[in-house]
Amino acid sequence: MRATTRIAGLLAVSALAVLPAAAQLSKFKPGFNLFSKQQDVQLGKEAAAEIEKQVEIVDSKELNAYINSIGQKLAAQPQADKYPYTFQVVNDPSINAFALPGGPTFINTGLIAAADNEAQIAGVMAHEIMHVALRHGTNQATRANLIQLPAMLGSAAVGSGSMLGQLAQLGIGLGANSVLLKYSRTAETQADLMGAQMAAQAGYNPIEIARFFEKLEAEGGARGPQFFSSHPNPGNRTKAIENEIRYMPKRQYNADTGQLPRMKALVAKLPPPKKKAGDGETAPAKLSIPDSRPSGRMQSYQGGGFSVSYPDNWKPLGSQGSPGVTIAPPTAIQQSQQGSAVGYGVVANVFKPKSPRANLPDATQELVSQMRSSDPGMRVGPETARQVRVGGKDAILTTLRSASIFQGQTELDQLITVSHPDGVFYLVLVAPESERQYADRAFDDMLQSLRFNF
Ligand SMILES: [Zn+2]
Repeated sequence: MRATTRIAGLLAVSALAVLPAAAQLSKFKPGFNLFSKQQDVQLGKEAAAEIEKQVEIVDSKELNAYINSIGQKLAAQPQADKYPYTFQVVNDPSINAFALPGGPTFINTGLIAAADNEAQIAGVMAHEIMHVALRHGTNQATRANLIQLPAMLGSAAVGSGSMLGQLAQLGIGLGANSVLLKYSRTAETQADLMGAQMAAQAGYNPIEIARFFEKLEAEGGARGPQFFSSHPNPGNRTKAIENEIRYMPKRQYNADTGQLPRMKALVAKLPPPKKKAGDGETAPAKLSIPDSRPSGRMQSYQGGGFSVSYPDNWKPLGSQGSPGVTIAPPTAIQQSQQGSAVGYGVVANVFKPKSPRANLPDATQELVSQMRSSDPGMRVGPETARQVRVGGKDAILTTLRSASIFQGQTELDQLITVSHPDGVFYLVLVAPESERQYADRAFDDMLQSLRFNF
């Protein structure tokens, strides 16, 4: 008995001597996410098909095979979490790379041309892989759309190849400022540090990623390389990577294939890109209250389970037949990193309360608290919630106020909730409070026209 105790004690001591250094290697886990891993993969596939229409994938087996071989060495590391990664080279001279949820990764020829060695390319690719493995895109989408996502992701339509279309209804696309592709500074730090670990394990000197970022920053000029517009510098990027490297075990970095000079020569011989990256993106309209006012002429919209009339200068953003729709003028929609916000218009959807048995007042309460948790400045009242009739059904009208996307304005949100087989059907009538004289009439007309078939 004693001997055993002594041995155990010795083991404990020697383990302690090793632990401090190892314990300081960064270990981040994916954050809160309403998407399943499977949904990340599905969304990535759909998005990749869309991207492939917009960019020009390089027509060179050799270049694609080269980038793929680096990618597969990285993807085999445990940090990559076994997603079905694919790696393709895009004929685009801007220094950039990006990855979609679930694994599709794209590397611009500009990045290959700018890198001093293979380890720098591997470092950027490892960074992209960590965005996938830590699920940063769908985590950001989750946080931006806590209210509408649960119903969308839970609905049966998902899985039938329409995920990207459904996300588009919620203002989540593949544009330059998309929550799926433009990362927070926290996400950047995580991808930098765990990407450096991954590159090192795969046999690439992780200091090269720090050197590459340093070089890009120095050469950036006024606009800076495109990489930094979607991968913002979290501050002291190079220092943080260098610090991480201090805790990595010593190893030989011998993964470099020596093929980079040949690949650079191939890139230099490519014809200029035929298609421009970002085709199909339109500049967002300028926010304007007068341009957003309801026209007075009505049109009709057929949604899933309901129909409603709406002013003809507003536009339904949603797919016909689905319960989720935003009807608003383009001049009242603000796209940001947090998703899209509507300042004048109507949002309709179905909300699923935690308890499927919740009665209408309780489910409405739960919806209101979810709305408030995604907009902490939002407050209820002062008008008390009251019973109303819409479309022949009992409903609750709850009034909320918050800061409008129109500078300096208070936003009035009139939330109407109706019992629905899946929970609660809701309609939010949104307008700046100062617009009531114009908005109230349109909203009255809309409520009068509302018809349900559930
Ligand atoms: Zn990044």
